[in-house]
Amino acid sequence: MAWRGIFKIFSTIASGKNNLNEEKMDFEEETGDRVLNDEVELGDEEEDGEDDAEGDEKEDDEEGEEVLALPLPHLPFFPGFHKPVQVKDPKLLAALQESYAWHAPYVGAFLVKDEPGTDPSLVSGSKAEKNIYDLKGKELLNRLYEVGIHAKILGIRGDRVVLVALGRLRITEMVDKEPLTVKVGHLKDKPYNKDDDVINATSFEVKSTLRDVLNTRSYLKRICTQYIDNSKFSRLADLGAVISGAKNLQCQQVLEELDVYKRLKLTLELLKKSMEISKIPEFVLETDAKTTLSAKFRERLEGNRDQIPLHVLQVINEELSKLQQFEASSIEFNETHNYLDWLTALPWGIYSDENFDVFRAKKILDEDNYGLADVKERILEFIAVGKHRGTTQGRILCFSGPPGVGKMSIGRSIARALNRKFYSISVGGLTNIAEIKGHFRINVSSTPGKMVQCLKTVGTANPLVLIDGVDKLGRQHARDLTSAVLDLLDPEQNAKFVDNYFFFPIDLSKVLFVCTADVVDNIPKDFLYRMELISIAGYVADEKMHIVRDYLEKSTREACGIKPEEVEVTDAALLCLIEKYCHEAGVQKLQKHIEKIYHKIALQLGRQGVSYEPAIADKPGEALVRCIGESSKKDVTDSKTIQESEATRTIEKVVIDISNLADFVGDPVFNAEHIYDQTPVGVAMGLAWTAMGGSTLYIKATQIEQGEGKGALTLPGQLGDVMKGSAQLAHIVARSMLFKKEPDNRYFANSKLYLHVPLRATSMDEPSAGCTMITSLLSLAMKKLVKKDLAITGEFTLLGRILPIGWVKEKTIAARRNGVKTIIFPLANKRDFDELATNVKEGLDVHFVDDYNQIFDIAFGDDQETGK
Ligand code: ADP
Repeated sequence: MAWRGIFKIFSTIASGKNNLNEEKMDFEEETGDRVLNDEVELGDEEEDGEDDAEGDEKEDDEEGEEVLALPLPHLPFFPGFHKPVQVKDPKLLAALQESYAWHAPYVGAFLVKDEPGTDPSLVSGSKAEKNIYDLKGKELLNRLYEVGIHAKILGIRGDRVVLVALGRLRITEMVDKEPLTVKVGHLKDKPYNKDDDVINATSFEVKSTLRDVLNTRSYLKRICTQYIDNSKFSRLADLGAVISGAKNLQCQQVLEELDVYKRLKLTLELLKKSMEISKIPEFVLETDAKTTLSAKFRERLEGNRDQIPLHVLQVINEELSKLQQFEASSIEFNETHNYLDWLTALPWGIYSDENFDVFRAKKILDEDNYGLADVKERILEFIAVGKHRGTTQGRILCFSGPPGVGKMSIGRSIARALNRKFYSISVGGLTNIAEIKGHFRINVSSTPGKMVQCLKTVGTANPLVLIDGVDKLGRQHARDLTSAVLDLLDPEQNAKFVDNYFFFPIDLSKVLFVCTADVVDNIPKDFLYRMELISIAGYVADEKMHIVRDYLEKSTREACGIKPEEVEVTDAALLCLIEKYCHEAGVQKLQKHIEKIYHKIALQLGRQGVSYEPAIADKPGEALVRCIGESSKKDVTDSKTIQESEATRTIEKVVIDISNLADFVGDPVFNAEHIYDQTPVGVAMGLAWTAMGGSTLYIKATQIEQGEGKGALTLPGQLGDVMKGSAQLAHIVARSMLFKKEPDNRYFANSKLYLHVPLRATSMDEPSAGCTMITSLLSLAMKKLVKKDLAITGEFTLLGRILPIGWVKEKTIAARRNGVKTIIFPLANKRDFDELATNVKEGLDVHFVDDYNQIFDIAFGDDQETGK
């Protein structure tokens, strides 16, 4: 197609025999002396920048002229070329006619940018053209490239305007909206030394490549050869760009380049690519298999040839030639076939248009995820910064938090918001470096690594790739795998990522990487430097309620093909599920239970004869609904309400309530975090943080021996050093406290004690259980119960101070989840607590303390029962 256009252009310049030129001739007759023939002869004009001086960097912008802006949906055109343009905007056409009539027949012609969201490799002009006529003023201006052509109108017939390009110009400002009129500055080539060896050698190479290209296109060769030798450097570069048949954007780059040497280099690249494409062999294959295969590969390249890097095209050509030589049944043939399959399936230069619209992003984030206001705000900031920078590349967001809090779901939403394809790689599932770096091509089963597989799957070169579980790196994996993942994330390295399967570098610099981790402390240090951590703590019951109702239940019901009117899961049942079955920070288990419930419902409805054909779902009201509440234990076939006939069908609405929940999900599971309604003597509740999020835990002091002077403390063997130290200190503090409160009580002096700390807490060796330990010891010594539903957290020092602890949000959520009514936090954590959302803090009596006496008063206040 493009070549036909170029042919027309060249015919216009070179001969008087084609339609366009006849058209021009007619215009000449009509318009008399208005056609300046010297302006249309290639190579006759002054070469702006030619100079004996070395290149001067200054651009020569002559400010001030106002011109009508004419959008060009197709290839830009270059000084010296004619171009007929169809003008569909009546106002613009009228204005052009007017200026032509007033002997001011000049216009600025500007290439239309591809519409955002379209694939540049596929935009042929018609797509760019599609909406451009609806745009006005600033909107239209934004869709035009700034650098265009100063053109003279040679004539107008109907809606076709014939132009000749005079020179380059740049839009400086908008003057009028409709028709779009702009102020422009004329651009001249930068001065260069025409005797310079490098520029002469480059122009020589351009000429010889141009001739090679023309040798493959005899119809153009006849017309163009004469211009190659006569053209000056800058014109030669323009001519080469047109002959190369390159797409809009690449020609525009040549147009915008004012450094003539650089322009020649750009053109040379385009011409070489054009040569490589022409070399792709038209096989005459001896077998059907070969014919089909080569046709498949060629077809894949068809829409995308211009985007494929030169070195890749060369490899493809070599491999296609090899394919021809091998027997179709040989191993080599299969290897080459596989290689070509990968080479031609990758999305070379295909990008989705990044969307930085923060309002749209907010909508998408809300659509996909409930709550998480602070996380969403951070993401919107990230997108807004991306908008200003023009890219979101370079910074790596890492979402941390326990399983099921929505880290992956958030990553998926960011991809949707940015209009990038989504792909996730689970680090936990990686076993060796080849999974990232690919296998060397040594046999038929060799494959590239995950990243290349990702590009092939998503079909764009700028997806969002979620590296799931970066904290699992380093622990389970060899160093080389860790550093391979690190190279992937490193903007310095990933532009030249080498997969062993290919050998040549693949550009991953446009991929946006996002990571997730359960435990930040386990993320290798090298990764942490590059990341911006965003933590997600978990959800309280009412948040889970929203998530399950508005997201999980809806998506599961739809996935099972069940209509809303066929089922009801009551609020009470959901709350029971949340509180009694799913003691987790996130909603992973909850999702599994909902799936279990809906699979069973599907079966029940299936036994009633409900079909899940969409046709039925499309006819609401066909089902006659009746609630059966507690009847699910009965065999549904016993129900008298089932009346099936040709005309009507009565379907029992399946209702899941507390009474029948266990039929669907079994009995509630034991909650190790909430064993006691009232803790017995010697037991105090603390708050901890583990990889699964915040949790409550019971610290239990027991007497193992009694006797004069036997006072001692035994600790579990698996306790970490920090916790051991904390327990020893707690013993001393409890002893001195008891002496103050009950001077005659010799319990600690005469008792050998054992302090039990649950296993899951011992995995996190930290001192925040200090105050809880003191309280449990005192409770045992004084035989007093600790206040009901009280949780204590805080580090204690020998000097009696209470130091701040971490994970306030996670611990508060865990406390709420386990029915805690009162929490004691260190005073220094007040700010952390105050910053929490109201729904997280709701219903809690929270005390902030800086002295153990305050804890003592709350835990063992006057109204506290004794355990004697
Ligand atoms: P993670 O990556 O943290 O383990 P996922 O993103 O896989 O968690 O979430 C597990 C499930 O819970 C997914 O179906 C997800 O959509 C859902 N989910 C988690 N958090 C939310 C939320 N805030 N709103 C809606 N759905 C959520």
